[in-house]
Amino acid sequence: MTVPLKLIDKFGRHIDYVRLSVTDRCDFRCVYCMAEEMTFLPRDQVLSLEEIYEVGAAFARLGVNKLRLTGGEPLVRKGILSLIQRLGKLDVELVITTNGSQLPTMADDLVAAGVKRINISLDTLNPERFKELTRKDKFDQVIAGIEAACKAGFKKVKLNAVILKGRNDDEVVDLVDFARERGLDISFIEEMPLGVISEHDREEAYCSSDEVRAMINARYPLTKTEEQTAGPSTYYRMADSETRVGFISPHSHNFCSECNRVRVTVEGRLLLCLGNEHSMDLRELLRSEPDEAKRAAMLEKALIDSMDLKPEKHHFDLANEPQILRFMNATGG
Ligand code: SAM
Ligand code: SF4
Repeated sequence: MTVPLKLIDKFGRHIDYVRLSVTDRCDFRCVYCMAEEMTFLPRDQVLSLEEIYEVGAAFARLGVNKLRLTGGEPLVRKGILSLIQRLGKLDVELVITTNGSQLPTMADDLVAAGVKRINISLDTLNPERFKELTRKDKFDQVIAGIEAACKAGFKKVKLNAVILKGRNDDEVVDLVDFARERGLDISFIEEMPLGVISEHDREEAYCSSDEVRAMINARYPLTKTEEQTAGPSTYYRMADSETRVGFISPHSHNFCSECNRVRVTVEGRLLLCLGNEHSMDLRELLRSEPDEAKRAAMLEKALIDSMDLKPEKHHFDLANEPQILRFMNATGG
């Protein structure tokens, strides 16, 4: 069934992709994402699994065709599989971004629940460095998770790597080789100035997509493809491999004009743009109306109305960080 597209903003952009943050908690403490000591939100401030489902279902009714679950680490939320099973029955492509730690036990269940594509974060192939970057000694578990995902039968498994100068920029080609050997796609992400971090100076550690691409190109000549997924990646191919190499470049390339996405934070705040504070409180709305049918109608109206809030573009500025005080884990990266 084709659902008419109802979410169109003031600039004519169709919103057909939603990222839902299902938890702010995580079993890792990646240096670019979280502080070592984190205070997580009290339970009652976080959307319940039922509330998250209602939001996802409302978006699906309004023509959204892709839902991504993220966090925090989505797979550490208690009961997450039951939510995934319900969302998997909607007429949307359901995808997950994960750090991979739970995949050794969950990969098969996710495929059975209807998850077609999965993104797994992996910034290094060196266990010691892994411990420095994530502050957890779980490298082997993540590699086992990636192997489990490869076997489980997802349509697509993609790796995501954030590259920081002086920390893992010497591993760019090794990471591409790791992806090539397994027939996986890989995307490189520029670090975004979200939340206050203490571990490194973001301006110094910043490694642009152009620099990463040059490193790969010296080993494997890259050809740009016009292939578009629903995300902001630009993709390149190598002559001798199925692996696609993507670049997500919030600083160096402004992709706002093609932005087709919104985010819902773990507290139920609908964010119309990652780099701006324009938002709408869906939690208050969800909790204000006990009748399910009325709530569903209110939710749809609010989502349609929210389109007028979506700003034209975002501005990130490394020198004056951070513009946005939310951490990535609460936003839904
Ligand atoms: N825990 C899951 C994971 O790590 O894949 C999902 C949530 S995580 C916030 C989603 C993605 O955002 C990961 O690929 C992570 O590397 C990336 N990320 C986190 N903080 C970032 C930052 N400051 N700049 C750019 N990417 C970031
Ligand atoms: Fe956790 Fe993902 Fe953030 Fe790392 S990037 S701390 S795995 S939420």
